[in-house]
Amino acid sequence: MKIESNTYLKLFANCKPVKGAKRATICDLQREIYFLIPNSCYDFLQDNVHVPLAENLNRLSATDSKTAISYIDYIIENELGFLTKDPHLYPDIEFADLSPHLLNDMIIEFSPVINTHRDYLLEDITICGIQFLEIRIRLSDLKLFQEFLAALGNTRVRSIDIVCEYDNSLSISEIPNYVDNFSIIKSFILHSVPTETLGIYIQEKDSRQLFTGERLSNESCGQIGRQYFTSNLRFFINSLGSNNCLNKKVSIDKNGNYRNCPSLPNIYGNIHTTSLLDVIKNKEYVLYGSVRKDDVETCKDCEYRYICSDCRAHVTNIYDKPFYCNYNPYTNEYS
Ligand code: SF4
Repeated sequence: MKIESNTYLKLFANCKPVKGAKRATICDLQREIYFLIPNSCYDFLQDNVHVPLAENLNRLSATDSKTAISYIDYIIENELGFLTKDPHLYPDIEFADLSPHLLNDMIIEFSPVINTHRDYLLEDITICGIQFLEIRIRLSDLKLFQEFLAALGNTRVRSIDIVCEYDNSLSISEIPNYVDNFSIIKSFILHSVPTETLGIYIQEKDSRQLFTGERLSNESCGQIGRQYFTSNLRFFINSLGSNNCLNKKVSIDKNGNYRNCPSLPNIYGNIHTTSLLDVIKNKEYVLYGSVRKDDVETCKDCEYRYICSDCRAHVTNIYDKPFYCNYNPYTNEYS
């Protein structure tokens, strides 16, 4: 490859390199994928931010220069960056939390107790600007939840994920209609379904519904692994400045208690007596939402740290690496 003078290698603004202890990633936040690169490639990319490529290549030995050219080819072939003589025309994106809302996410363990306070809760959801809801519910309460669901149309909630525990109060053949009636439902998971019931129901591949015999509980949260990495802009920004799971999130358990999430024991008041506006001012509530990956032991040296979810429930100390992670960023091995 012939490199003209005054040419710079520029990564696309949506492609962010992240250096780890032993290797690095480039997270493509638009295509929602990531690429593994050697740390020497990461360093080469940093060196070329302000210095023309030819000048940098001239400083290297013949062997290192050949390696550097293979890095340039890799970046261009994978559409992660481009060559330009005018890098100033392509400013970086400012990676700051732009959400104007007090809260973004809420998990509700829906129950008759919660339904008693429906109007009060809907008002708080509106005031705080909550956009994403996860509802954990029993099948027997699904009809009761219908009115709550209809009333959400007057709030800023944009999507709802429903995680429903099977019981024999309702035929599962009624669920497709239920989901079809509410376009706001993004996904509906029915879990703990007995094998004989599961066997008679054939699911469409592109359906928003998933029926499974697996039992999902609060212990099912916090799984770590490559299949759970999220390489998108919202997640990446959240990880840079806060806890990517708990920031601007609140949950209400079936008894009306406010928590950071259903898996954490701390309680910050009850829907009977406490306003959500008071909950989000609680110092301990705020602390959990503010722990960044860069604050967590081991994770702070991991190349996946801004795309890997950060559960604070399954840890001994608030700054420990998540319990379910078996990855070692110092060796790049899984135990
Ligand atoms: S070390 Fe931390 S950031 Fe890396 S994979 Fe494990 S939990 Fe995720």
